[in-house]
Formats: sequence, C-alpha cells, structure tokens
Amino acid sequence: MPPIRITFLGTGTSSGVPMIACDCAVCLSSDPRDNRLRSSVMVESAGTRFVIDTTPDFRYQMLRLKIRHMDALLFTHPHKDHIAGLDDVRAFNFFSQKPMDVYANYLTEEALRRDFYYAFSDTKYPGVPELELHLIDKSPFMIGDITVIPIEVWHLRMPVMGFRIGDFTYITDANRIEDSEKEKIRGSSIIVLNALRKEKHISHFNLREAIDLVKELGVPKAYFTHISHQLGLHQEINAELPEGIELSYDGLTFSV
Ligand SMILES: [Zn+2]
Ligand SMILES: [Zn+2]
Ligand SMILES: [Zn+2]
Repeated sequence: MPPIRITFLGTGTSSGVPMIACDCAVCLSSDPRDNRLRSSVMVESAGTRFVIDTTPDFRYQMLRLKIRHMDALLFTHPHKDHIAGLDDVRAFNFFSQKPMDVYANYLTEEALRRDFYYAFSDTKYPGVPELELHLIDKSPFMIGDITVIPIEVWHLRMPVMGFRIGDFTYITDANRIEDSEKEKIRGSSIIVLNALRKEKHISHFNLREAIDLVKELGVPKAYFTHISHQLGLHQEINAELPEGIELSYDGLTFSV
C-alpha cells in the first residue's frame, strides 16, 4: 500500500451544523470546528484521489479545498446526506472529458439509478453527469493504486459499507458491527467512527458506544465524525475524551 492522506471534507450529521433555524450554543458557536458540513472524507495517494460519499455539500467541499481533479467516488450507503451532491460531478466530467468511476454496493446503486435517473437514461440530455458504475460487495477492490477492503456494518436494518484502506478504517452511519466484520478492523492504526451525540440513537453509535468500540477493537487512534449539534461544543467534548480519541472537524487531515 502506498502512503495515503485522509482529509475530512465534512464531519456533521445529516442536518449539518449549524442546523437551519437553530439557536443552540453549538449552532451559534464562533469556533470554526463547530461548523460541520455533511460527513465525507477524501483519500489520496501520490497517484490516486477519491472521496467517500458525495454529500449535499460536495460542491462547496471541492471548492473550499480547490480540488481540480477527482479519480473516483466511493459510497457507504444511499441516505441522502451521503449521495445528494453527486450531480456536481459534472464539473469533473467537463474538465477530464471522461466519466467518473463510481463504486457502490447494490443498495446504493439502486438509489443512484432512481435519484439520478437522468444520468442513466438511454437518451441523455447534454451535460448530465457521466458515471461509470462499479458494483462492489464484500470483496476487496482497487481504486488506482489503493486497495480498499469493504467492511459491512449495520445502520439499524440497513447494511452500510465501511472501508479499510491499509491501516486506516472509515466507518460512518453504524450502530452495530458483527464480530466477523470487527476482525477486519483489528490491527488498524487509525479509525474514523460515527458518534452522533451523548443520548442513545436507534441507528447511530452515541459517544459512549463509540468510545467503548474503539477500546474493544484496540485501535490506538480514533476520530469521531457524523456529529450532531446535540453532542455539544467541540472544545468541551473533545477535552472529555480518553487518550487517543478525538472529535474530528472539517479540514482535519492526517497521513497513514
Ligand atoms: Zn448520514
Ligand atoms: Zn443547534
Ligand atoms: Zn445514514
């Protein structure tokens, strides 16, 4: 595996932080780490760059990091906060003059074909997104020079794809992981895991569950993502976390 760099493009839950029309302390915070676009990361080696999920903020996420080229898109699951920005891939199509490689499981592929039907029709309107779909399952696959190992996790009753890339594991939108899939995570040096808020939630790990899972898996470094305004101020919550565990924030970047 080549060395890779991970960059958080967004670290917020589906509503983003601040949330529209909310006057809570987190939504009104002047700390930039409390401003969270919807959750996504960019993965880069020297020769390959892809994002995991195209959020409703995808366009702005690309603009604010001045991204000029994208090799592929990889999807975790079909919820709107993870796929809604796909239409904006048109800019990359325009400049690269080729279709974008898209990696998704059957569930996400079905949603993409439904929600972005115009990109898949036989008689396409000029300028619609050009997509080259690659169906993935639980088998490892390559994107450029990067090997990706899918990890199936549960989001209430929906299977969601987590990914292990070298010693890095990315899991969002989960509240349960089967033992067989946990084995794929063990040995990672860094994990990103969703931690929505302190209160229990039916389809997301809460803060306590996420901390316990990191300890159970024995991963030395963890960043939590998909954060709700209900979790609290970044600075306060981050200070309460055990050694080796931190809240992520938009723009945070590290190498593995
Ligand atoms: Zn989500
Ligand atoms: Zn709020
Ligand atoms: Zn979801």
